[in-house]
Formats: sequence, C-alpha cells, structure tokens
Amino acid sequence: MNSLIIAAPTALATLGAIAYGAAHPRSQLFGRTIYRTNSPRKLAITFDDGPNPAITPKLLDLLDRYNAKATFFLIGRYVRECPELVQETVARGHEVGNHTELHPNLLWQNPTKVRVELRLCHDAIRGAIGTPPKWFRPPFGMRNPWVIPAARELGCRTVMWTLLPGDWQEKPPEWLIPRMQPIAEHAQRNLGNGSNAVAARMGDVICLHDGAHRELNGDRSRTIAALEHWLPRWRDLGLEFVTIGEAVSTPAR
Ligand SMILES: [Zn+2]
Repeated sequence: MNSLIIAAPTALATLGAIAYGAAHPRSQLFGRTIYRTNSPRKLAITFDDGPNPAITPKLLDLLDRYNAKATFFLIGRYVRECPELVQETVARGHEVGNHTELHPNLLWQNPTKVRVELRLCHDAIRGAIGTPPKWFRPPFGMRNPWVIPAARELGCRTVMWTLLPGDWQEKPPEWLIPRMQPIAEHAQRNLGNGSNAVAARMGDVICLHDGAHRELNGDRSRTIAALEHWLPRWRDLGLEFVTIGEAVSTPAR
C-alpha cells in the first residue's frame, strides 16, 4: 500500500492540532493560559494595542462612570511614547499587561526574537510605572512552544479570552454591538434564578481594542460607542467589571 495514503491524513491531523494549539483562545497545548474569570458575576474587560492618546483618555472616563476596572495590554513602543497615559491608567485602578514591543505574529519567531519582544515591552512598562506587568497577551493570540515559557520567565501569566467581537474592523457600532451580545446572554442565563445558575462557575473575558497596532492614534471610537451601549446593560444584569488580577485571585462569589 502506498504509504502516502496513510501518511497524508495523519499529517493533516497533526497540522490541524498545531493550528488549534497556536491560535485557539482556549487551547492549552503550548502552555497554560487564563481565558475566563472565576465567577459568572465577574466580567473582565480587556483592551489591546494601546496606549492610544486619541482613545484611552475617553475610555478611562467612560469606565469611571460605571466604576469599571479593566486590563490594558500595551505595545512597548507606544508605552515609550506615552508613559504618562500608562501612569494615569494604573492610577485610576486598572491593570496593564505586556503585548510585545512591536506586535509581530510570534508564531513565526524564533525563541530569541520572542524573548526580545517580550523583554522590551516588559522594560518599557516597568520604566513607565515602576513595577513590572504580571500579565501577557500574545499579538493576534498566536502562540508557539516558546511564547508562554518566555512570558513565564518574566513572571507573567498569559491571558486569552472567551469573546473576541472583532472591534478592529472598520464597521459601525450597529455591527459591533450585536457581536457583544453573548456577554449579556451568559449573564442572563447564569445570574438568573434558573437552575443553570448553579452550574456556571466561570465568567467571561472580552477582548477589545483601544489602540491600533499599525499606528498611534488609531480610531477606536466604535469600541467606545459599543461600550456606552453595553456597560449600563451589563451592570443592570448584575455583572461586575474586574481586572484580570481580581478575575483570578480574589475569592469567587
Ligand atoms: Zn494586538
């Protein structure tokens, strides 16, 4: 029998498994990650690709209105350009994490390049706020076997998500708002009086963007508009808006 006939499906299955391990937000193949909170009551709102002087200050004001704490995954080169904005973000009760120096797809990087990308952003954040970050999120969510160990070397846990609504796309809030609906559906199902409430022990991590990795001052006004819609509704459903630290370490309720 032609061995290719046997080998081809096996190779395809292996490729499929690797693709899943590299890209799927809940995959643990290349190392353990955080991708949900420890209570259905807790929603962790996270923002990538900042700091962004055009958007982040408005977002901080919006979050304050709802007593919402969030986690910002920062690009190192933007941190060096806007250290005061990072200081203000932390001063207002939010957490910040490492999102690499230049936002490459780490899937294709060798171990040395991965380490340098993480180390430069780590140093930029420590330089801006005086303490190193505890969280890391890979650009595009892409991992290879050395990404999560490199984060761990820097004392960081890797954070993924349960919901990625796609707010980087140039589409109006009317498109984005329904794509954030699953958060409300989960809250209605898990915080209501129904029997399902007992079963749910985990809450969502939503991945949004206050910055744009290609340019500083990218337009993320649609993300703000969508949050203006959802924050009061999520609050009325009983959700609390927590940082990743609160999402995983304070006792679940
Ligand atoms: Zn990013």
